[in-house]
Amino acid sequence: MTAEPTAAKRMGVFGGAFDPPHAAHVALVKAALAELQLDQLRVVPTGEAWHKTRPLSPPQHRLAMAQLAFADLPRVVVDPCEIQRAGPSYTVDTLRQFKILWPAAELFLILGEDQARALPEWRAWQEIVQLAIICVAARAYSAGAKPKFVINNGLESRFRWLPMPALLVSATDIRTRIAAHQSVDDMVFAPVARYIALHHLYQTT
Ligand code: ATP
Repeated sequence: MTAEPTAAKRMGVFGGAFDPPHAAHVALVKAALAELQLDQLRVVPTGEAWHKTRPLSPPQHRLAMAQLAFADLPRVVVDPCEIQRAGPSYTVDTLRQFKILWPAAELFLILGEDQARALPEWRAWQEIVQLAIICVAARAYSAGAKPKFVINNGLESRFRWLPMPALLVSATDIRTRIAAHQSVDDMVFAPVARYIALHHLYQTT
């Protein structure tokens, strides 16, 4: 991959399965752009998710839906680098690649709270924390214990909280609702909903 020209000094990186992308993802992106004063935010759909237990929808569908959901937002680029890379998608590889392509950019890795809690299980997580500031968005949970993320001692300067309205939306819930022929109108952007219907995605759980 060659670097596209960019004057981005502050670059956000937001990875996810985006199966499908939903209203909370979009809210998170908008909050990150505003709160972190980002020059650019790169949305990176996962290629092969090593940390999800279920098979993901084919990458071309998830990439197309991410483009529909995010590409109209100013300063947002949907980046297919993990989908194009062979093998499991490791965030550390993406961040290393971005540092090589845009050495002057300061990187901000944007995560929901659930993913932040799982960070110590990620490949080379200590290097991830050195490559990027980790920005954690609170996540709302409907039932049971809330996974309250606690920043590791000594790493406070590498983390920050990202204020955003707590939205009770998850891709799992959306897939379940579609399979049950229930409406997801408030949860996904209309062009994404049309894409899902056109390609008959999520018809079974
Ligand atoms: P699934 O239900 O299939 O696990 P998901 O809704 O968590 O999917 P992902 O594509 O896995 O969506 O998430 C991408 C990123 O967005 C992750 O960092 C995740 O924590 C974050 N995220 C997803 N939903 C929310 C939400 N409602 N509030 C805050 N962050 C969220």
